[in-house]
Parts: sequence; structure tokens; C-alpha cells
Amino acid sequence: MKLKEIGEFGLIDRISPQFLRNLPAQMVGIGDDCAVIPFNKEESLLITTDMLIEDSHFLRDKIPPEDLGYKSLAVNLSDIAAMGGIPSDAFLSIGIPAEIEVEWLDLFFKGLGDLAKKSGTHLLGGDTTKSPRYLIINIVVVGKMPTDKIKYRSDAMPGDDVFLTGFIGSSGTGLKLLLEEKPVNKSGNTLINIHNRPRPHLAEGKWLAEKESVNAMIDVSDGIDSDLRRIMDKSHCGIDIDLKSLPVSDDMVSVCKQYGWNTHEIAAAAGEDYCLLCTINNQDSKHIMKEYRLEFGIDLYHIGKITENVSELNYFVDHKPVSPKEHGFDHFA
Ligand code: ADP
Ligand code: MG
Repeated sequence: MKLKEIGEFGLIDRISPQFLRNLPAQMVGIGDDCAVIPFNKEESLLITTDMLIEDSHFLRDKIPPEDLGYKSLAVNLSDIAAMGGIPSDAFLSIGIPAEIEVEWLDLFFKGLGDLAKKSGTHLLGGDTTKSPRYLIINIVVVGKMPTDKIKYRSDAMPGDDVFLTGFIGSSGTGLKLLLEEKPVNKSGNTLINIHNRPRPHLAEGKWLAEKESVNAMIDVSDGIDSDLRRIMDKSHCGIDIDLKSLPVSDDMVSVCKQYGWNTHEIAAAAGEDYCLLCTINNQDSKHIMKEYRLEFGIDLYHIGKITENVSELNYFVDHKPVSPKEHGFDHFA
């Protein structure tokens, strides 16, 4: 059997049972955005790692080095945000082709350093090796938070409302502009910038983690179609999504209109927006939406409902079922 037949998630499901057996009490291993390691009576450490490989995750000639440094840390911080934590430390391992300019690397570290400073994350170490051809970047981030406040993918309950903390599809549209080498206007540039320099929703994650009626949480890294399925699998539920309620930016709408691209399909399938997806007890969700607006000055976007139809992800337009063509990004599928 070839790896591409089971995909990235099939492989993780295949290997994880042997490593999940016999974990010490309170420790959470493979299966969520971060691993959880008890630190003291009240707090736990959150640990996450993500890898970016040239030509698979980025094209070196299409992303400025400063943005690549920023993005490499941002995607890891986003996993800390997804549990509601605060990042503290990071380690960077990097495989570098020998012909790269040192000045290029200076800019890469400048971008990484800018976000480290902004987020209060200290780069404490790593490893540097020569890579024969491609640039390979792996970061580990450590965070901390009160154990009883941690939000998991596995706690969605039937009846919960499903929300997003930001626009989706912007990053995917920016990427499409880059890949198809389309001429870009101001809106296009904004989308490309979002793709190259995503903002991890740390403040939003921490705020939502304080709320008891927020049940499940995950960051939107691979596209909501794929990330909703992870919530569904771990929480043993179904999800109904109203495609028209997916929050998309005016910039995305205008660029999609210009090139005849389907906004809903890109919004549901494209990845790398790095906002948060959470489910909230229906009794409290209106109140939390109101408080969220007061706190952040923007809406928490309501996009659907958790159902009892285990493993059924259904999309609707005006209450009629539809099926978006594309699915989220699985690295081997
Ligand atoms: P994310 O997209 O938030 O980084 P994924 O859904 O891709 O997380 O990963 C699911 C889980 O699988 C995570 O807990 C991650 O740590 C774990 N995982 C992924 N690859 C490996 C691996 N090679 N070995 C062990 N665990 C892994
Ligand atoms: Mg994640």
C-alpha cells in the first residue's frame, strides 16, 4: 500500500494507538493541536511542532525571507492559540542549502524575531544542518496554561453552535494568485500578504478558553472542511454548515469576482487562514458573541451547528444540501 492511499491523517491514525497506550495520568499525546504535559497542580505545558518544506509548503522565490521567518513561527503559535494557551519558548531546527545568501537568512531571522518579540516567545535553541537541495524549517513551541481551561478537539456537543474567529479563504486566494501568477491589485496584495504573514489568534484563543461554555476548539490550518472533520472524528458528532455564512473578506470577494473563482468553494477548502474554529453551548452562544464583539470589535462568525449525525459533515445553501467540490489539504492524498 502506498502512503498516498491512506494520506497524512490515515498514517497518524495508524501509528498513534501504540504511543497513546499507557500515557501517564493527565498527559495528552498525539491527536490534538498540542500535546499536554502536567506542570504543577494547576498548570500544564503545551507543546507543538510544525514543519515547512520548500516547494511543499512554500516557494522560496514567492515569499520574502522576512515573511517566511514570521510565518514559520506563526503556524506553530496558532496551535498554542487553538488550545487557549500562552506561548513562552521556541526551538528552531533548520536544514539549509549551502548556496543560500547569509543576508537572506538574516532577513528570515528578522521576521521570526519580530513575531517572537510580539508574542513573548523566546527562541531557546535548535539545530542547523546542511540540506542538499531544499530549505527545511521545523519549529517547536512550548506554552503554558491552567489545566482546567484547556480546549480540546474532542469536546463538541450536539446542539453547539459553530464559530470562526476570522475570515477564511483569504490565504488560499492569495496563494492561488501566486501560483497562477495573476496580475495583482491592492486587494490581491492584501490577500498575498495574509498568506505570507498569517496572524495567530492568540488573544482570541486565550479569551475563548476562559469561557466554560466554549466546548471544542481547533485552529484552521488545512481548510475548514478538513478541520471540521477533525472535530467530528474526535468528538463523535456531525456538523451542519451554512456555506453562505462562511466569513469572507471584501478583498477576497473582489479578487474571486475578477477571475471567476468560486468564493464558497475556496472558503470551505483552502487552508492556512490560521483563525480559530470553536463550538459553543447554544444556551450561551448569543451572550458570548456579544461579549466577543465588545472585546475584539469584530464578530465571532456563526457558521453552523454540531449534530448527532456521527461523521456527517453537511453543507447547506438556503437550507438546501450542497457539496463543495474541493476538500481540505491532506499532504499525501
Ligand atoms: P496540526 O494540523 O494542528 O499541526 P494535525 O491534525 O496535523 O495537527 O496532527 C494531528 C496530531 O498528530 C497532532 O497531535 C500531532 O502532534 C500528531 N502527529 C503528526 N505527525 C506526527 C508524527 N510524525 N509523529 C507523532 N505524532 C504526529
Ligand atoms: Mg492545528
